[in-house]
Amino acid sequence: MLARAARRAAARAAAPALRGLSSAEGAAGAPHGGGTALPPREVIQVDVAVVGGGPAGLAAALRLKQVGQRTGWVVAGREGGWPRVERKEKRRSAHHPPRLVQRATEAGADISVAVLDKAATPGAHTLSGAVIDPRPLATLLGESWAADAGSAAGVPLTRDAFYFLARSGHSLRLPVPPPMRGKKVGARIVSLSELVAWLASRAEAAGVDLLPGFAATDVILDGGGAVAGVVTGDSGVSKDGRPGPRFARGAEIRARATLLAEGCRGSLSERVMERYGLRRDCQPQTYALGLKEVWSVPPDRHSPGTAWHTVGAPLDGDTYGGGFLYHMGGDGHRVAVG
Ligand SMILES: Cc1cc2nc3c(=O)[nH]c(=O)nc-3n(C[C@H](O)[C@H](O)[C@H](O)COP(=O)(O)OP(=O)(O)OC[C@H]3O[C@@H](n4cnc5c(N)ncnc54)[C@H](O)[C@@H]3O)c2cc1C
Repeated sequence: MLARAARRAAARAAAPALRGLSSAEGAAGAPHGGGTALPPREVIQVDVAVVGGGPAGLAAALRLKQVGQRTGWVVAGREGGWPRVERKEKRRSAHHPPRLVQRATEAGADISVAVLDKAATPGAHTLSGAVIDPRPLATLLGESWAADAGSAAGVPLTRDAFYFLARSGHSLRLPVPPPMRGKKVGARIVSLSELVAWLASRAEAAGVDLLPGFAATDVILDGGGAVAGVVTGDSGVSKDGRPGPRFARGAEIRARATLLAEGCRGSLSERVMERYGLRRDCQPQTYALGLKEVWSVPPDRHSPGTAWHTVGAPLDGDTYGGGFLYHMGGDGHRVAVG
């Protein structure tokens, strides 16, 4: 229902995508390209807005629904401020997110959780081909998650190897470093994009409102300077900055709690970290560039469940990095190469 409301909102004309952190008042009515003032954005109110429908955002949304449904607690805070947490059952205190939930005032009330993702369909922006540690998924969804997920659960990791590649073309097999010993934890080789699509279906079944195709372009601040939601981007803006013939206005998603799960270097996350000094007294973040492709190889070269990691060539001795080959299951004899 929320998805329909958001799409309705996006289909209506109006104001500019806001740049930088915006006050709630600034979210409405400014001119596009200096022209006529546009009507305010449609406002959609939810308890929790999750920005980013990758593994982290979807897992968080699912967990919030589980906590809300199992305990009957909901976000019911004062307008414009953080809700106070009350304890209903002692045993659940370790599981509910602090400062996020308050005792439900109505029986059966539930947290409304919306997940926005700029990808047109869940998983479409997710880099595929990954070796994953499945234990968090088992904790979240139960031991039968792999059976429920079917092909999205990929294949168990059955063979792994670690090589040093020399520039001469030779290779040296090395022991697999402990953090990469996936067999011990029951690791699986998956298409992360398929897994995310399946997680999204689980989240939707749990009552999460999925809003694919919605990029959050700015954070809304309330009068006290606290994050109060996000705005989604306008589409169909012409080159001169004015609404084009297919213009559709973004919506204001107002939330009592906003969870940024944009992945690495998210645009809103970076701004929020800067504004609130969240990286103060922290070690600097480090980043590496990763390239990943999925190849379809001849059947006789395909060995589902095999993972190879490499260090060395083509990198020089001063550059940190390496490569991988993950043989996935399913159709197409796919190998993730990176
Ligand atoms: C080359 C490479 C290989 C990897 N291999 C592995 C592996 O083998 N095993 C493993 O466990 N991990 C691997 N990883 C890491 C793994 O991909 C990440 O840890 C994981 O995807 C992080 O999940 P996330 O949900 O935090 O972010 P992401 O997966 O990045 O998801 C973020 C989502 O948010 C959306 N989004 C971002 N900004 C906005 C916005 N403003 N509005 C709306 N939507 C937005 C994006 O479209 C995306 O769908 C690899 C990463 C790389 C780059």
